[in-house]
Amino acid sequence: MFEELKRLIKDIESKNRISIPIGVDNEGYLDRECSNEDCLFQFKINQDDWDKLSKNDVALCPLCRHEAESESWHSKEQLDEGLEQGKKYYQGLIDSALIKGAKDFNSKQSNNGFVKISVKVSGTKPLHYIMPISSKEEMQLKIQCKICNTRYAIIGSAFFCPCCGHNSAEETFDNSMKKIQDKIKNIPLIRKAVETINKDEAETTCRSIIETSLGECVVAFQRFCEVTYLKKAPNKSVKFNAFQNIEFGAKYWKDLFGESYEEWLNNNELARVKLLFQKRHLLAHTEGIVDQKYIDKANDGSYKVGQRIVIKEKDVSDLVNLIKILTGKLKEK
Ligand SMILES: [Zn+2]
Ligand SMILES: [Zn+2]
Repeated sequence: MFEELKRLIKDIESKNRISIPIGVDNEGYLDRECSNEDCLFQFKINQDDWDKLSKNDVALCPLCRHEAESESWHSKEQLDEGLEQGKKYYQGLIDSALIKGAKDFNSKQSNNGFVKISVKVSGTKPLHYIMPISSKEEMQLKIQCKICNTRYAIIGSAFFCPCCGHNSAEETFDNSMKKIQDKIKNIPLIRKAVETINKDEAETTCRSIIETSLGECVVAFQRFCEVTYLKKAPNKSVKFNAFQNIEFGAKYWKDLFGESYEEWLNNNELARVKLLFQKRHLLAHTEGIVDQKYIDKANDGSYKVGQRIVIKEKDVSDLVNLIKILTGKLKEK
């Protein structure tokens, strides 16, 4: 009765797999996940660069440097969605074979007999057409490996190129500083251009660029320090985001090298870098509204609790210059 269904099951058994394409984000990056159970770091890689790896090539986790064949980097979300689509696909095929079998059977029944038998199939699902597996939204921090040119993207900190394992901290830091300096340099141009449409928008756009640039300085510095520390002291661990705090960070270097920010900057510079890091902390955690903690830690008497801090282009340029001095010293170590 169900010849079609038998054929289908045979066919499924012999093929044993279907292929489901994986979608990329708007920038052409593919989601990947480390298969080391202790890590599970999620990152993205440019699809063209990923496609250069053959099946047996090994890729590396940008965070923990776990190595695995290029087949084993699917994210949990991709596997779940693939499984779901596979189920729906086969369910649709089986159901349509059942419906066809029932139809064929019914059409062969004669109307003349005393007993009439007909088969009805209910609760079936429609055919499922395989769609590319969806991608997560883009990641801001993009890195291009200096050695093999692989383009990848991460959130937070990572250390290694997923294709060749090159530790890319230095060039990423330099790239970030250049990007920030370019943005600050172009503020007058951007302000002028947007002012021709709307003065309020010109102000908020420029303020937002300046404030996010301050945050980007701190993230770039934090990442550089983490990678450098891991290189110099592979057996030691660092507390999460420790280098976003000048005092904590200074202590790690002091313990390692016997000298630190106090020796590498003069008093004014050190006070300035502390102040700018604290301002960035406020932007990140209180949307820039001053609290008592800020006044105490930054030793800044120019604000009262409840005021909103003001960040200018010069603040960002100063911070770029100061963290460049510090990373310059660390590169020499
Ligand atoms: Zn990992
Ligand atoms: Zn590389």
